[in-house]
Amino acid sequence: MSVVRCFGLDSARYRCANHARAETGFCDHHARDQRVHESAPNLSARIFARWRGNATRVPDNAKCAVPFWLWRGSSAKIVDHLLNDANARTRWSAAFTLRKRRDPRTIEPLWRALQSDVVALVRQQSAVALGKIGTSRAINPLIEALWHDRDPGVRQACAIALGNLGAASAARDLARVLEHEQTIFVSWDCAVALGQIGDATLAPILAQCARDHRAEIVRRACADALAKIQIRQSSGIER
Ligand SMILES: [Zn+2]
Repeated sequence: MSVVRCFGLDSARYRCANHARAETGFCDHHARDQRVHESAPNLSARIFARWRGNATRVPDNAKCAVPFWLWRGSSAKIVDHLLNDANARTRWSAAFTLRKRRDPRTIEPLWRALQSDVVALVRQQSAVALGKIGTSRAINPLIEALWHDRDPGVRQACAIALGNLGAASAARDLARVLEHEQTIFVSWDCAVALGQIGDATLAPILAQCARDHRAEIVRRACADALAKIQIRQSSGIER
């Protein structure tokens, strides 16, 4: 499970192809802007995530769907099934189990599953698991899939996770995806996430989408996000 590849993203929002230094997890190029990656999810966003409630979460399937032998297995064994099992249901169960364990050492294999599993539900569950692990290193895998995954359900899971993490370093990506995304419910979750993160510099983009987006529910979500940013500014929660 050792990290061999850099945890950075290139300008096209794909994973950096360079080898990482073991101490940093980043290549020399990305180590320079590591500050951004190391910024912790901000506290106020977490408070607002709780405030928002669980109404729109990806359904949390019961753990009884996971075979006992997998549920009780070592993390190394579960990772092996996540990446190599021929049965998609087992790979999904492995991702679900890792989601419950929240072990940062499984970020690397979850990122690989998110990039390459042929079944969208497995990629989606891997995205949710990365969001639950919740360290700063789980953010770039989610940004990459938000931009590039071909399945809207996976992109949606990424937007939700980034919002719940209060991932400030993802705010600009969420805003750009909001502008260009074709699937309405993904745009909607990007807007909600931006409200949770609360980056006031992105208010102009939200204002524009609140006016011009083709879907009314997205326009309304953008207006809600703007209102949350304004509440936070006026209550001094924003740093
Ligand atoms: Zn790099």
